[in-house]
Amino acid sequence: MEFSRRQTMQIAAAVGAAALSAPNIARAATPKLVVVGGGTGGASVAKYVAAAAKGAVDVTLVERNPLYMTCYFSNLYLGDHWDFDRLAHNYEAMKAVHGVNVVHAHAQSVGDGAVTLSDGSTLAYDRAVVAPGIDFKYELYEGFDEEIASTLVPHAYKSGNQLLLLKQQIMGMEDGGTVVIATPPNPYRCPPGPYERASMIAGWLSKHKPASKVLILDPKSKHSKQGLFTEAWNRLYPGMVEWVGGDFTGGALPVVDAKNRTVITADDEEFEADVLNFIPAQKAGQIAIDSGLTGDGDWASVDPMTLESTLVPGVHVLGDACANGDMPKSGFSANSQAKVCAQAVMAAMTGKKAFPPRFRNTCWSLVGDDYGIKVGANYKAGDGKIEKTDGFISQTNEDDATHAATAAEGFGWYEAMTSDIFG
Ligand SMILES: Cc1cc2nc3c(=O)[nH]c(=O)nc-3n(C[C@H](O)[C@H](O)[C@H](O)COP(=O)(O)OP(=O)(O)OC[C@H]3O[C@@H](n4cnc5c(N)ncnc54)[C@H](O)[C@@H]3O)c2cc1C
Repeated sequence: MEFSRRQTMQIAAAVGAAALSAPNIARAATPKLVVVGGGTGGASVAKYVAAAAKGAVDVTLVERNPLYMTCYFSNLYLGDHWDFDRLAHNYEAMKAVHGVNVVHAHAQSVGDGAVTLSDGSTLAYDRAVVAPGIDFKYELYEGFDEEIASTLVPHAYKSGNQLLLLKQQIMGMEDGGTVVIATPPNPYRCPPGPYERASMIAGWLSKHKPASKVLILDPKSKHSKQGLFTEAWNRLYPGMVEWVGGDFTGGALPVVDAKNRTVITADDEEFEADVLNFIPAQKAGQIAIDSGLTGDGDWASVDPMTLESTLVPGVHVLGDACANGDMPKSGFSANSQAKVCAQAVMAAMTGKKAFPPRFRNTCWSLVGDDYGIKVGANYKAGDGKIEKTDGFISQTNEDDATHAATAAEGFGWYEAMTSDIFG
């Protein structure tokens, strides 16, 4: 059949109109995943769903900061083993390579099929993932809040500017001064974190201000990798690091006199610091609380098979913000949970088969030059919680080569983890 020039143009116009409207129809039918929090857990799930879905799921990631500063290896910056800039990661590959729609905004709440942003606009979702990390329970402490932490007594437990402030304070301290690290009660982000920090600070002080001390005040009566840290401190920094455990306060939380950099225990004992690193008790990131995901508790309860909230259907919570059973709150855990969650989300949104969940974690701590220790475990979805199946830990009396190999593994892990998420 022959078409006239006029008919040909009409057909071309109709085809053009169809072509223009087709993506709209397809887009409307494409299920929407909105992920709140572009940290280790949230960015991992956004990338993994986008990579697996290949356009079959429309993935949006809401993150308030343009750069992600890792907390892991932030202690190494304090010890001069890592540059501050190396902690920063951007979202360029997330957008350009994986096609994730990255929105830099503060999310206010999640629920009823929409994420509400602080400017009042909304993002509709078929499924949502909430991974906001932690916030601090300042309400438990008199005279201590985020303003004081940002200017005077840094917790430096979210990386970023407070980390710079803490390092400046340590570098400005007189030789012979005392750095006090007041650690939080369980559960909290990165159980070995405060003790790795004590090690890194002691390492720096031993080179630059050798008459100084590091005092750890702990509301707990024991801590992560305790035998291994104690062995390392005695060996590498003899007489420099002192740990005062929870027996001294009966586990009660201390009072902070921030202006005088003094920690006052429940039985009125006072510990004065030249530099005070006070790490408060923790809870899930505020948006999880405001969205009803934590119920009456501090952490979001989830189904261990899928990481879906037990309180708000269609919303998954992972990383530090969830009640993660036997798993520690770590970056490795958040990334492992994200892979399980990505499968569950794909199954729910596209019908793709999900495999039985398996979770893993390893926490490496650098305690000195070429001196690493580690603890790790495997986990399964148990009865209502994530359950440990088996684990391993470095041994005391390991030789130098083993410590050096463990330290090198830790450095390798950082590169692998950050390129898995942001590459
Ligand atoms: C000193 C220290 C050392 C550590 N070392 C290790 C280690 O060696 N290995 C390890 O595995 N883990 C380590 N961790 C723990 C690790 O950093 C955390 O467990 C991990 O970051 C948790 O990931 P997440 O996604 O839950 O939270 P995060 O990584 O904190 O991400 C949360 C993201 O959500 C964003 N966000 C929050 N609320 C909103 C909102 N309302 N709107 C928009 N965006 C929002 C935040 O800006 C942030 O980017 C360490 C932690 C510390 C403090």
